[in-house]
Amino acid sequence: MQGRFGTGFLVFPILLVLFLTVAEGAWAEPPSVRSDAQVCVAQAESFLNARLAFWQLRLNLADWKISVVMLRATDLKPKTLGNIHWDAGKKTAVIRVLDASDYQVACREALPDMEVTLVHELVHLELSALPRTPASRREEEFAVNRIADALVRLDRQRASLPAGADGAARAAAPDSNSPWQKSLPHGRGSVTY
Ligand SMILES: [Zn+2]
Repeated sequence: MQGRFGTGFLVFPILLVLFLTVAEGAWAEPPSVRSDAQVCVAQAESFLNARLAFWQLRLNLADWKISVVMLRATDLKPKTLGNIHWDAGKKTAVIRVLDASDYQVACREALPDMEVTLVHELVHLELSALPRTPASRREEEFAVNRIADALVRLDRQRASLPAGADGAARAAAPDSNSPWQKSLPHGRGSVTY
């Protein structure tokens, strides 16, 4: 029995594959960390936007118009992974996250860490109505780190549970070997929050 398509239908796809193979060989850069980073950057944008929508709902920030952009390390303050700027009157905010290509780890570790930055900045936004002084910034940063870390850990614990897991399973300790935990930095370290 023949397949769904007759032989004639296979000629074009085969020629197309051959052409693409030749084209790729002619123009594509050799495999490198950088080309892998480019794939990661492409994935990061859709990943971050999806996670932003999720966390906005969870943090009851759906009435804010928030965008997330990736910035190269040179465009961020030294030793920072992101920041947020908001306009409380307009309820708009822009979150900047370190570009995936500037991570020195594999994409599967970079993306979860970028999500932590995203949640961290959203927690700052959650606290934005509170009075703030230069002296309180340090304490806020400390608290935001802990809250964001706890939120993300809890979400990932729940996501990793099989369907129908009971309450005891939900309270189980997180897997200390999971890569995202290892990649968590001690702080987002943003001067502009
Ligand atoms: Zn911060």
